[in-house]
Amino acid sequence: ASAPVDLRNWIRDIPDFPKPGIQFKDITPLLGHAEAFRTSIDLLEAEFRHKGIEVIAAAEARGFIFGAPLAMKMNAGFVPIRKPGKLPYATIAQEYALEYGNDRLEVHSDALAPGRRVLLIDDVLATGGTMCACRDLVRSTGADLVACAFVIELSFLGGRSKLEPCEIFSLVTY
Ligand code: IMP
Repeated sequence: ASAPVDLRNWIRDIPDFPKPGIQFKDITPLLGHAEAFRTSIDLLEAEFRHKGIEVIAAAEARGFIFGAPLAMKMNAGFVPIRKPGKLPYATIAQEYALEYGNDRLEVHSDALAPGRRVLLIDDVLATGGTMCACRDLVRSTGADLVACAFVIELSFLGGRSKLEPCEIFSLVTY
C-alpha cells in the first residue's frame, strides 16, 4: 500500500487574496489531485459514517464541491444553501457577516424537517460567520444539526468558539 496522502501538500497559500493582508488557502491543487480529493471525502465519511447522517447541507460554492460527493458516499441527501435569489421555491433566509463583507444565505423552506439528522460541510472555517448562518438556517427548520465539518480550519480566526457548543470536525488545522 502507498503512503497516505498528506492533504497539506495540496493546499496552497495565496498572499493578499482577495485583498491585501489576507492569506488565502487555495484548495484547487487538492481538487485537481484525484487521490487527495478522494482522501478528503474518505476521511470525512469515516468520521461521520456511524452518526446516522440523513442529509448533507452546504453553502455555495466551495461547500458544494465536498458536500455532493460526501452525500453520495454516505447515502445521504444533499441540500444546497445559496446566495439570495438563486433558489426557485419558497425560502428562509439568514443574514451574516463575512470575512470580506456582509451577505445573506437562503435554503428552501421544505428542504429540511424537524428531526432530520443534518451534517453541515464547508471547505474553510475562517471567522465562522458563514457556518453560523448555515447553523441558524438548519436549526430554524427544526432539523437536528449533528456537526459542522470542514476541510480546513483557520484556528487563529476563532470561528470554532463562535460555533460551539456545536460539534466541529476539521481535516486540516492551521
Ligand atoms: P467565514 O465565514 O469567515 O468563516 O469564511 C468562510 C467562508 O469563506 C467559506 O465559505 C470559505 O469558502 C470562504 N473562505 C474564507 N477564507 C478562505 C480561504 O482562506 N480560502 C478559501 N475560502 C475561504
